[in-house]
Amino acid sequence: MIRLQNIEKVYRTDTIETLALNSISLDVAKGEFLSIMGPSGCGKSTLLNIMGLLDTPSKGDIKISDQKTDHLSDKQLAQFRNQKLGFIFQSYHLINDLQVLDNVELPLLYRNTTAKERKMLATEALEKVGLSNRIKHFPTQLSGGQRQRVAIARAIVGRPEIILADEPTGNLDSAMGNEIMDILINLNRNEGTTIIMVTHDENMAHKTHRLVRLFDGSQVQ
Ligand code: ADP
Ligand code: ADP
Repeated sequence: MIRLQNIEKVYRTDTIETLALNSISLDVAKGEFLSIMGPSGCGKSTLLNIMGLLDTPSKGDIKISDQKTDHLSDKQLAQFRNQKLGFIFQSYHLINDLQVLDNVELPLLYRNTTAKERKMLATEALEKVGLSNRIKHFPTQLSGGQRQRVAIARAIVGRPEIILADEPTGNLDSAMGNEIMDILINLNRNEGTTIIMVTHDENMAHKTHRLVRLFDGSQVQ
């Protein structure tokens, strides 16, 4: 599903060069739930952003669904991301002056869908995360766990093949974190969605199929 070959990422400013990723090669199978751990600054977010085509490597190849991505234009990349990938972040990234339903519909605005279809798909996605009774709420009227469930509904509304989650339980207490984890596990099991999750939490990581550990930009496990 995802193949990374000898990925290197160097951040350059006038005075400093940081080697954020050092020759990472990684295969993620279709239907796999992979977690990525490692100390702060070891390159986890950089790796996730590269897999999500939000950032480009300095060297190396990346293939998603057997497709090379390095020749795509920015517009094609945006379209590819919109159709194949769903993103979940630690701090939810919801739009606070849009109601829950409208937040979830957002990814569909870039596709050929009617307003009626958008509403139906968004309602369905909210049902899957157990939030059908909050569709007219605004994000600020929800608890952290509920906001993250809205973010998950938004990530899955377009039926992506791959979900990339950057510390999805990082801002939540353990009860809410477990709820979010259960939703991701069910999504992976029932819909076969491939999930890659960065986490600081060993307990969460152990619930996934495989753990990759990074240290100082290199893969150590
Ligand atoms: P993690 O997610 O594991 O905390 P990151 O991927 O955010 O680590 O960062 C990896 C390394 O790259 C760090 O040393 C960080 O300082 C550096 N880095 C990240 N983003 C930038 C950037 N935009 N410019 C320069 N250095 C960066
Ligand atoms: P939690 O204890 O899970 O953090 P809260 O006590 O904050 O939840 O909220 C309980 C319920 O009330 C939630 O389901 C939330 O949707 C709703 N709620 C919270 N704040 C508001 C608000 N300002 N307006 C409308 N509904 C709210």
